[in-house]
Amino acid sequence: MTTVAIGLDVGGTSTKGALVTPDGTLLERHEVRTEPQAATKTIIAVAEHLFARAIRLDHSPVAFGIGAAGFLDFSSGSVIFSPNLVYDDPDIAAALRGRFAEPVVVDNDANAAVWGERSFGAARGHNNVGLLTLGTGIGSGFIVDGRLLRGSTGAGAEFGHLVVDPAGPDCPCGLKGCLERFASGGAIGAWGREEALRRPDTKMAELAGAPELIRGEHVARAAALGDEAALAILRRAGRYLALGLSNLVNVFDPEIIVLAGSATEAGEPFLGVARDELARMTTAQRRRPARLDMSRLGDDMGILGAAALAFDHAIGGGS
Ligand SMILES: [Zn+2]
Repeated sequence: MTTVAIGLDVGGTSTKGALVTPDGTLLERHEVRTEPQAATKTIIAVAEHLFARAIRLDHSPVAFGIGAAGFLDFSSGSVIFSPNLVYDDPDIAAALRGRFAEPVVVDNDANAAVWGERSFGAARGHNNVGLLTLGTGIGSGFIVDGRLLRGSTGAGAEFGHLVVDPAGPDCPCGLKGCLERFASGGAIGAWGREEALRRPDTKMAELAGAPELIRGEHVARAAALGDEAALAILRRAGRYLALGLSNLVNVFDPEIIVLAGSATEAGEPFLGVARDELARMTTAQRRRPARLDMSRLGDDMGILGAAALAFDHAIGGGS
């Protein structure tokens, strides 16, 4: 009989979960489409499926961990505000406790992700860690002095909405010029479309099929083929990323910053510039350089982090 935690990662597109051992091995995985108007119903269905599998496989489930998109009240395990997903029952923890005897812990998905990298991945053993997921937007989670930074309303560690240019483009959050408008995959795609409207014969438009279809991945592919316009866009995004990371270093003094998400696939033209520029900025301040590393857990970081939170909760460890 193997002791397992049931870890779930709840996103706008899919809800995925797994049975996870204390050393971070995924034993059994399950993924379904998140019901757009009923995310809690989806969570319950995935939890029930995995619990039944655990019993059938003769494993011993000790706790549930849920990493969910939105602002979460960690103490009650309920959703306070969720801009991209409708939870039919905001009280996720209570809904699961009504069905299972095992302890339940619910946290924000980015918090789960950074806890996962710290428990099993790139940030193992570190007590001051920043994680940025560079996708359509920028998600982030921080561990400060060994504890997750949650803030007074569960809305802390929203690093993507740090304003880096007050005259910059509109952000869905309500402000202008947030970091995620400059250093995410979404930002890289937007710059690619802008460039292609000026010069429709660009490689990026050729790869995408049309200027308005350019996304971050097309800019990255054009750059890999040596296209100068695409390379310039990635370098610009890299410099903005470094600007944001330098602010992070000044506030939190992390040992390691972990980068994840689709935009990291753009590789050196983007990340090399960010690394060099961050090193230049920290050196100018005579600061110790923070290690910049890639996620080791990839798409599994949310599941593994939620499971790690569940184990910590079940055995009374801190998070
Ligand atoms: Zn914003």
